[in-house]
Amino acid sequence: MNRELILRFKEIVGEKNLIYEKEKMVDYSHDEVSLSEIYNLPDIILKPENSYQISEIIKICEAEKIPLTARGGGTGLSGGCIPVYGGVVIDFENMKKVIEVDKENFTITVEAGLTLREFYDICAKNGMFFPPHPGDESATIGGLIATNAGGARAVKYGVMRNFVRGVEVVLADGSIENIGGKYKKSSSGYSLLNLFIGSEGTLGIITKATISLLPPSEKVYTLIIPFENLKQAIKISPLIIQNGIIPLAIEFLEKNTIKLVENYLNKKWPCEIGNAYLMVMVDGKETETLMMAENIAQIVTENGALDVFIIEDEKRQKEVLDIRSMIYEALKSNTLEILDVTVPISRIYDFVCEVKKIEEKYATYIPTYGHAGDGNIHNHIMKAKFKDDKWIEIENSKEKYKIIKNDIYLVAKKLNGIISGEHGIGYLKREYLPLFFSEKQIKIMKEIKKIFDPNNILNPGKIF
Ligand SMILES: Cc1cc2nc3c(=O)[nH]c(=O)nc-3n(C[C@H](O)[C@H](O)[C@H](O)COP(=O)(O)OP(=O)(O)OC[C@H]3O[C@@H](n4cnc5c(N)ncnc54)[C@H](O)[C@@H]3O)c2cc1C
Repeated sequence: MNRELILRFKEIVGEKNLIYEKEKMVDYSHDEVSLSEIYNLPDIILKPENSYQISEIIKICEAEKIPLTARGGGTGLSGGCIPVYGGVVIDFENMKKVIEVDKENFTITVEAGLTLREFYDICAKNGMFFPPHPGDESATIGGLIATNAGGARAVKYGVMRNFVRGVEVVLADGSIENIGGKYKKSSSGYSLLNLFIGSEGTLGIITKATISLLPPSEKVYTLIIPFENLKQAIKISPLIIQNGIIPLAIEFLEKNTIKLVENYLNKKWPCEIGNAYLMVMVDGKETETLMMAENIAQIVTENGALDVFIIEDEKRQKEVLDIRSMIYEALKSNTLEILDVTVPISRIYDFVCEVKKIEEKYATYIPTYGHAGDGNIHNHIMKAKFKDDKWIEIENSKEKYKIIKNDIYLVAKKLNGIISGEHGIGYLKREYLPLFFSEKQIKIMKEIKKIFDPNNILNPGKIF
């Protein structure tokens, strides 16, 4: 990037909000996926303070055909915010304002750089509840919308898409558009709002968002349910729903995965017995929540559960949720990639069995766990396995990695699933997109991209 361009960007954001020294850019060259082959540095990092500055930045990028990538918390798991062609990275750390708390409409409007942790605090202070819980609370509102993030608590209330009422976006030509609003219903032509949710920074830059909220639940219980085997655990989830109970979360986990996290965090899972677990969360009014917990306890006990641990204490519930949320962290240094396919809930067990066959075929280790309530499953493709209290390298893991990934996607497709349930396509999954969509559908998606971004400056190299 030449000096003249750097000076123009400096005029927009000011000296303190610009980084162009290579040694200070390393953190911006990756997200939470540790693959070294996608490691790439931007040419310049800009930290704008408002939408107008972003508009001026985009106008320069558009005129000079400079790639521009938005970066939120950098917690993504698909290489989405990596500047694969260099250029400008926009860091949202200076855009965290709370613009409005509207108690009558039960919405909060914020700037896109606010983190999830900060957003939960603001909601709590104002007597409001934001149900989605993607595992890493340093993710930003902009990133959560751009990936249509989900998380464990999506079973009852849904994912980001169910909570975004409106966004302000800066388009590739620099125009600032308000899409949506505070209204709840709309049957008014194509939904541009829904197009932006999950667009991974490829159609425009999200600068503000109006999020709809709920009143806090009076009570939440977490149930930990051990089973002899994974089949029993997974097959019970639909029974809970068929009995008229929609829990906040239903997660399935295996004992060996839990052991790894216990070691990593030095925290204890509430039970030792069993080889597989369901973690079920229920919420609502005090008496009805207890009744739901007791009904679930009865259903699972009649269907093979070895025991049921109902946790009421809030601190203990948080510890258990933390253990679940930290699985990725515990496995990260030995993970090549974490996948997030979604299959119909009736096919979760078939999917898990097929993945076990792939694990055996390639003599590898594929820890698998996930959201049993909505069919969204995480598989880690590993470079080492944990044996006798230590990590042992898997032979030829890098060579086998893409074959294993392809095989897992073929299983997902066979079972009528989809490639990504919550992390997005980003850079890492783009070559597999055609497995799940027809040529015609991909052509339509590309044409939409061209309408919004004719010069392909917005996060190029992602999704397609
Ligand atoms: C331990 C751990 C657990 C996780 N658990 C979950 C989970 O349960 N569920 C889940 O859904 N995800 C989960 N994630 C993934 C991740 O947290 C989400 O994808 C999150 O939405 C990313 O937000 P971010 O701000 O970090 O975005 P980034 O990683 O910075 O960016 C992600 C994508 O969004 C785009 N983007 C960011 N900001 C903007 C903006 N303002 N405008 C336009 N585009 C933008 C980027 O260009 C990129 O394409 C987990 C990650 C970790 C590390």
